[in-house]
Amino acid sequence: MPLRASQIKSPEYVGREVTIRGWVYRLRKQKENAFVIVRDDRGGVVQCIFSADKVAGLTIESSIEVTGVVIQDARAPEGGYEIKGKSIKVYNIAGIDYPIGEYQSDELLLDKRHLALRTRKMVAMAKIRATVLDLSRRWFVENGWMEVTAPTIVKGAVEGGSTLFKLKYFDEEAYLSQSAQLYLEAMIFALGPVWSLTPSFRAEKSRTVRHLAEFSHLEAEAPWVMLEDILLVQEQLVSHVIQSAIKERAEELAYLKRDTADLKKVEPPFERLPYDKAIEMLRSKGFAITEEDGSKREIRVGDDLNIDSERELTKDASKPIFVIGYPIAVKPFYVKEDPDHRGVGQAADMLAPAGFGEITSGGLREDDIVSMTERIKKEGLDPAAYDWYLDLRKYGSVPHGGFGLGIERLMRWITNADDIKDTVLFPRTMSRVTP
Ligand code: ATP
Ligand code: MG
Repeated sequence: MPLRASQIKSPEYVGREVTIRGWVYRLRKQKENAFVIVRDDRGGVVQCIFSADKVAGLTIESSIEVTGVVIQDARAPEGGYEIKGKSIKVYNIAGIDYPIGEYQSDELLLDKRHLALRTRKMVAMAKIRATVLDLSRRWFVENGWMEVTAPTIVKGAVEGGSTLFKLKYFDEEAYLSQSAQLYLEAMIFALGPVWSLTPSFRAEKSRTVRHLAEFSHLEAEAPWVMLEDILLVQEQLVSHVIQSAIKERAEELAYLKRDTADLKKVEPPFERLPYDKAIEMLRSKGFAITEEDGSKREIRVGDDLNIDSERELTKDASKPIFVIGYPIAVKPFYVKEDPDHRGVGQAADMLAPAGFGEITSGGLREDDIVSMTERIKKEGLDPAAYDWYLDLRKYGSVPHGGFGLGIERLMRWITNADDIKDTVLFPRTMSRVTP
């Protein structure tokens, strides 16, 4: 049975003959000997030493199977173990023009992403991501939430029409889903607390380091909750995922040079910062926002928060902050108005510390059919397009709420990635739909 490179690096294999499979990661030929670093199919690497004649014609990224004896040598790269090769079987000699070397531009790495995902950085990212998804799923299961799947081809907008991807659906027009929320809302009446992990699609027209056109959306919805219940779920989930991920993926995070000291502090409770107070804080610092025409003015109550104001609010924080009570005017039609404060929405965003910005949005949903119909009309939407959604308020409406978390936003914070594109293997943005 062939083993992985990472498996044989243990005293129990020293002196034993093993077989490993993988790809030529580095190749150094001397007069008599050749040093071949082999990368296995989980990113582990080990050096194999051959007499030079055995590896004639071998190229970077050729796929091979090596049989040899494990030896321990403190000088060996990658952990003090290496393989004294006996035989080598070649599956495929890779073309000599393999485009990924030690240094190249970010653009080239994106153009050649199908190959670049073999780099150790991308493998580390993929492993952390798999762990984050696994931990999230287990947290929901262990806490009594039921996993569901909502459709991704839909008729109605959730987050506003400007970022909708239109598609031809047989003889009608449909859209790619921006969020599963409306469907999760329908499900809670039958299934109680539910959650889903589905792709969401948004035609984001601005180039930023935190927007993708397709992202992994983790969403949860529950009946009979208050805003505080929804906040508790989020802070527990996020803290659990981070605390476990930094332990389970310490090696990968170290490879990415992520200092995890600040992540270790991420434990409930997270600060609850009322929106009005957030604006006051920004005003006291003279924070200005840029209008559409390019002019600047001081931020004021009623304005939405953007990446710059979010950064200002969280730059010195070591834990996420919930901003609560946004004006309903800057939030979608389904956000429930605070019955005690007109114009204030029972909505909260979780802002990651150190300027990473919004990672979740959530709150209570409007459960009254009259108010909701009004809000839909006020936003210039057609209530007829939401008839099934309005039924939920007609037949047994209950107070309910939930939230949505962007997995790549969470990943960017955990890995300290410069750009959200680094956190996904095949990113989709306005300017990139291949490979
Ligand atoms: P933002 O204001 O940051 O653009 P949003 O308020 O439009 O985000 P929501 O509709 O609240 O986003 O979506 C819920 C969550 O989904 C966000 O908190 C974020 O984590 C994630 N998200 C939203 N849009 C994107 C995107 N284009 N790319 C990656 N993640 C996203
Ligand atoms: Mg939001």
